[in-house]
Order: sequence, then C-alpha cells, then structure tokens
Amino acid sequence: MNLKLHVTKDNGRERYYIRDNSKSSLIRFAVIDLDISRKYPINFVCVLPKNINPKIKMQTHFQMKFKEESLELAKNLLKRALKKEKDEDKILEIKKRLKILSPKLKMAKCNRCGEDFSPRKFGYSIQKTCNDCWSKL
Ligand SMILES: [Zn+2]
Repeated sequence: MNLKLHVTKDNGRERYYIRDNSKSSLIRFAVIDLDISRKYPINFVCVLPKNINPKIKMQTHFQMKFKEESLELAKNLLKRALKKEKDEDKILEIKKRLKILSPKLKMAKCNRCGEDFSPRKFGYSIQKTCNDCWSKL
C-alpha cells in the first residue's frame, strides 16, 4: 500500500455537479492508494473521518481497515498532505483536522502544590504529584 490523501474542494474544478454561486467550500478528504492506480477515483480506498475514536461502536471504514493504526496513519497522512498543499482553504482544513486528532492533554491537580500538570500513566495508576514536586521529594 502506498497511501496518500486526496484533498478536494467542493467548489473547485473537481466538482462534478453544477456549481452554485455560494463561496462556501466543502473540503473532502479521501484516502487513496497509489499502488492501485495514480488516477482518482480508481485508487479510492475510503474517506478520512474527521475524528477517530476507538470507543465508538459505529466505526468508520477507515478504522475498520486500519484498526489500531488508524490514528497515527490519519495524522501522518494529514502531515504529509500539509507539506505539499498550496491551497489556503485546504491548508486550514488540514490543520483543523490535525488539531482534532491530537488529543488534548488531560490535566490533573498536583496533590502537593495544587498546580495543574499533565499526569503520566503508570500501568493502572496515574501520576498524582507534579514533576517539580516529585523532583523535590
Ligand atoms: Zn506539585
């Protein structure tokens, strides 16, 4: 597999139905496999979902296909697409998607100084003391 993102703008040249006058554009992300073909949509694999959540029962084609690797793959595809993209709207949308896929750090309050910090997990237990206090212990 030689996967790549195929990013299209709904009001762009690739639109195959009648163009309307609205300027709003819909950016679509398709995952393509260049090993199948260089031509879109022959090489179409699946749609890149906006968000990837392994806990949701209704899994997207993308997740069913790539399983645990879904999240990393999605991020890599977006990052690679970002490097080559020149269209401002598409760049914005790619960045937005990357933000959605990057998990926010969960914050916890340190049980010594009360400061917020991002705790690390150790197996089933979670860090309760911030790194600063930890180093002073
Ligand atoms: Zn602390």
